[in-house]
Amino acid sequence: MLTLYNTLGRKKQIFKPLRQTQGKPSKDVRLYCCGPTVYYFAHIGNLRSYLFEDFLKRILAYNGFSVKHVMNITDVGHLTSDADTGEDKLEKGAAREKKTVWEVAEFYTTQFKKDLAALNVLPPNVWIKATDTIQEQIDIIKILERKGFTYTISDGVYFDTTKLKNYGVLWGNKKPAKMKAGARVEVVEGKKNAADFALWKFSLKDQKRQMEWPSPWGIGFPGWHTECVAMSKKELGLPFDIHCGGIDHIQVHHTNEIAQTQAAYGIMMANFWMHGDFLNMRGEKMAKSEGNILTVDVLKEKGFNPLSYRYLCLSAHYRSKLAFSFESLQAAQNALNNFYKKVAETASVQVAERWSLRAKNYKERFLEFVNNDLNIPQALALTWKMLDDKNLANQEKYGLALDFDKVFGLDLDKIKARETPKEVLDLAEQREKLRKAKEWQLADEIRKKIEKLGYEVEDTAQGPTIKQN
Ligand code: AMP
Ligand code: ZN
Repeated sequence: MLTLYNTLGRKKQIFKPLRQTQGKPSKDVRLYCCGPTVYYFAHIGNLRSYLFEDFLKRILAYNGFSVKHVMNITDVGHLTSDADTGEDKLEKGAAREKKTVWEVAEFYTTQFKKDLAALNVLPPNVWIKATDTIQEQIDIIKILERKGFTYTISDGVYFDTTKLKNYGVLWGNKKPAKMKAGARVEVVEGKKNAADFALWKFSLKDQKRQMEWPSPWGIGFPGWHTECVAMSKKELGLPFDIHCGGIDHIQVHHTNEIAQTQAAYGIMMANFWMHGDFLNMRGEKMAKSEGNILTVDVLKEKGFNPLSYRYLCLSAHYRSKLAFSFESLQAAQNALNNFYKKVAETASVQVAERWSLRAKNYKERFLEFVNNDLNIPQALALTWKMLDDKNLANQEKYGLALDFDKVFGLDLDKIKARETPKEVLDLAEQREKLRKAKEWQLADEIRKKIEKLGYEVEDTAQGPTIKQN
């Protein structure tokens, strides 16, 4: 039984897929994760969110679900301020790098995919770009307009949040947080309510944008929140099972995705809403605006294995903040190296084919931990305990480690069992036959031959195992 914390309702709930086959929940899970805005390198804070989503996806698969995972690429419409003011991040990136927006988007998309691969984050089944669904976005805005949820001002078409009874349900229908004292408040002229958001922004008359499209309301570009509605609807259909992102998406981005789907289609967009907490550095959220970002390439330049960052993220629960420091990364790298050593010590024999009760118990507890809202830190601690357990055969330890690594994703399968020579395997087989025929003396002679070749046969409850001496 898999339980997940649902931000919608703020409690842990038993997870069941929405779709049914023959009256029962099907095994198909549809997962949408808000992807990167590709105007710069993803920092390791962003990547913590994608790692959390990867852990979730692997745990779903571990439970036998078949996951369709969609991730978008935001290549237009994400402005430098969540209040619908400021520049488009992509246009800003293009000006900085003296490239076209399309070149900037492509370059950072490729970089992002490389970062995910370096961290063993499984790629989604579908990548989808915001600029590939402009027509779908316009269609959604038309529905919203027809149903009376929009108004147009000089700057663009806006969603009137007061028209929706249940606006802000994702975070308890609270009013939007006040700006920090002293912060520069940029207000869009004519916007009726602080929480109202842009569905379509007009291109400025005196400024030629590189990305702009015609629409029934005028030339411009879509609002960021409409993009994710159009893309998830196109690839997964509405409603779908799980929608993920970082916790900063709760108040504005996801709230406004929900508002649009409730207004346009009268449904809740997704069944579960899951959010990963921040990676902090020096007491602040890691963010480009805080000037405290680090990338995977920087970690590599400093001599770290990117998987040590993965290990660090595995060791903290996704709903807790994680404070980053190079000391903690070094500790994670040391722990990971020790982990590899321990697993390698068990890898000199074949994987167990039958499990002892003790091994089965470890597997059950592992599942219990990961199924308790992804309690991976506990599952990791259990794995260490399992590797140190003197009452567990090496072949079982190795088998369990490989099995648990379907969730951890630490490349344990690259630690290969040292091959036992065929000659030894054949002798062991002969010996087993003789033992079954109660030919003890002949069996013992073969055991001695095996020993001469540097191997030892051990008769365990799970059958004979071969160890190198
Ligand atoms: P963006 O490219 O800005 O749209 O952000 C990509 C993802 O990273 C989103 O899911 C954000 O919520 C998430 N994110 C941003 N900063 C952090 C951070 N410091 N720690 C964890 N996740 C973050
Ligand atoms: Zn999104």
